Amino acid sequence: MASSSSSSRESRRSQVGSGEQQAPVPYRVGPYAYWPPVMCQCNQMAPCWIAWSDENPGRRYYRCRYGLTPSDCGFFRWIDRQATPYERTLLCDMRDAIRQMKREKAEEEQQM
Ligand SMILES: [Zn+2]
Repeated sequence: MASSSSSSRESRRSQVGSGEQQAPVPYRVGPYAYWPPVMCQCNQMAPCWIAWSDENPGRRYYRCRYGLTPSDCGFFRWIDRQATPYERTLLCDMRDAIRQMKREKAEEEQQM
């Protein structure tokens, strides 16, 4: 059942791989597409990322652009409030459902 698989050329996806680290939904705006800029201790604009952990699904935060490198200044700040337990469960369930569907779709495409 290949109903509407028109947009099969997703070359950008393949750079990231299909790990669980991947965001379940595409970002609507880039990590630097916000204003006014928030600066970290490096005096550089801090990118805005979205967490998809069990504790903070879908919660946005600012982080030093050198995060996870030796130059990391350690800057970290939440943007959104913490979700309620219900919202958290709901978002995690949806995140997992989307990942599951993507996994199944990828397996289907490999068999074709
Ligand atoms: Zn920094």
